[in-house]
Amino acid sequence: MLPKGHKLPDSFYASKKVVAPLGIGLQKIDACENDCMLFWKDDEDLQECKICHHPRFKPRKRGGKKRHKSIPFKQLSYLPLTPRLQRLYTSQTTAEHMRWHKEDPGEEGKLCHPRDGEAWKHFDRSHPIFAAESRNVRLALSADGFNPHNQGSRPYSC
Ligand SMILES: [Zn+2]
Repeated sequence: MLPKGHKLPDSFYASKKVVAPLGIGLQKIDACENDCMLFWKDDEDLQECKICHHPRFKPRKRGGKKRHKSIPFKQLSYLPLTPRLQRLYTSQTTAEHMRWHKEDPGEEGKLCHPRDGEAWKHFDRSHPIFAAESRNVRLALSADGFNPHNQGSRPYSC
């Protein structure tokens, strides 16, 4: 399944040991169980939700050891984007792929990549300083089947 000469680590622990030095780990951020807020930045030390006052941590069992870490009701797993993007530019090969949209001349009249589309060109005209930098990264969010406007006979698709 893997290319010749490549080996899959023996365990999840071994995989984590390989990835950890890259510094692109997962961050866990406590959240209100009712999804009101995150216990993050200025609210990092709060013990209950400042909106619904739900406690942040599950109650400890009686007689439990105090040394055990408090367990939050809910956590958000956050993958920081910036270090991941920076890693893409540490490899010359990958960096070339990241700049391709700007440096490849393309073919006139052919629609092969989002850069050939009118939306991309409009964005470039609207933000010329950003567009001039070949290392720029454009992020998009898409979802299939998400519909916040389901109104019976007039469903909208997003
Ligand atoms: Zn809350």
